[in-house]
Amino acid sequence: MSAISIFEMFSVGIGPSSSHTLGPWRAAMDLNNRLCAKQISIATINTLTIELYGSLSLTGKGHYTDKAIFMGLSGFNYEEVQADQINDVIERIVATKKLYLFQQKWIDFDIERDLIFRSEFLEHHPNAFKITIGAENNHHYEQIYYSLGGGFISTHEELSQKIEPDYAYHFPINSAKDILQHCELEHLKLSELVLLNESKRYGSDFVDERLLKIYEVMRDCAFKGCHSSGHLPGILKVKRRAFDIHKSLIKDSEYRTAEEWISAIRKTKIYFREILKWVSCFALAVNEENAAMGKVVTAPTNGSAGVVPAVLLYYLTIENHRAGFDEIKRYLAVAAEIGSLFKKNATISAAMGGCQAEIGVSSAMAAAGLTELMGGSPYQVLAAAEIAMEHHLGLTCDPIAGLVQIPCIERNSMGAIKAINASELALSAQSEDIRVSLDQIIATMWETAKDMNSKYKETSTGGLAIQVNVSDC
Ligand code: SF4
Repeated sequence: MSAISIFEMFSVGIGPSSSHTLGPWRAAMDLNNRLCAKQISIATINTLTIELYGSLSLTGKGHYTDKAIFMGLSGFNYEEVQADQINDVIERIVATKKLYLFQQKWIDFDIERDLIFRSEFLEHHPNAFKITIGAENNHHYEQIYYSLGGGFISTHEELSQKIEPDYAYHFPINSAKDILQHCELEHLKLSELVLLNESKRYGSDFVDERLLKIYEVMRDCAFKGCHSSGHLPGILKVKRRAFDIHKSLIKDSEYRTAEEWISAIRKTKIYFREILKWVSCFALAVNEENAAMGKVVTAPTNGSAGVVPAVLLYYLTIENHRAGFDEIKRYLAVAAEIGSLFKKNATISAAMGGCQAEIGVSSAMAAAGLTELMGGSPYQVLAAAEIAMEHHLGLTCDPIAGLVQIPCIERNSMGAIKAINASELALSAQSEDIRVSLDQIIATMWETAKDMNSKYKETSTGGLAIQVNVSDC
């Protein structure tokens, strides 16, 4: 698998989970195309059943998998939807027991009857669901989807036949070793290598436009999170903390927009403890928004969406006040490429590898991006990613009550701080100081993932999820 674009690694979507919300939503939207290809007219469809399997069944309610599928089937695009539309659509389905399939036909849909949670796991991946369609003349159509983490999806047929993306990048990259070779031979920085690849595929105007959009969603999400108080949805009644931390840091600075906010932060005097607080605050803000079904960018997933923006905002507001879009673009390009190495050679799915696959990977992505901006060589950039992952190996996924809140939100701030430290260590390292390569740590992460007991892989049946009584929270 050598053709993962940075725009697949960074998807704009709705929280709280890329594997349990964005992926199922995307799959439900995809069903429309498949019905078209099979020449099944929506007008002939009378019944629809959804069966959730494995991790989607065990933690799907807390991750809003059901709502995401309903939204996709109702024809809403996750990138454009407004938060209040989600509640309206779901309430209407519950009240009327009808679903407006792809905005074309009302069909009967009783959640109690037509949404089934199955305890078994399907063959190819722990995150699976099946949609069965009943149409006129006893016609049935069934499609199994797998949500692979980070918003990536595949059908049962694609995984059975091992169908892989067919695009070949100008500089093929399957490993960190490939990156080093290309950079050395072509005398390129890592960001230049990635941006050349993407520009040849999509054109440089599109690349700039899309990366700007990704940055703006990340920034606006942090901004919104810093200015939203109250509690997160769900039985845990988790208090939003970014609001108070932000208030104590920003003091009486004046600003109106997210853009002016960045300038205002740049003007404040910041000491070490405040740096820690700002970075944590950015990460908490993004993931509180994610938990509240806000708009976020997968980086590489929704649960870990706060680390990459937090470290980027740290660079823009604290490290380099003159930085602009060029730095943002380079940071995102490098971060995405590192994420794709984990996707190609291990996993970015917590259901496959625990939290090391989410927060560990996001920390590696951010560490590499920051090191590139701090002037690190390609070797140091890769070393930063390696160091960040090395200290997340074995991290389990055990969200309390299946909600992407505890430990998830705080964990993003820890991943961001570790990324900054990993970058500093890599920048001061000579080649003989680094004994473990990024390829070796990715392989180790994958072996650890395979050995990890399934109760620590996004099932809410182990660790904190069972130690902490929900009623105590
Ligand atoms: S514990 Fe980690 S991997 Fe699991 S849902 Fe939370 S952030 Fe994602």
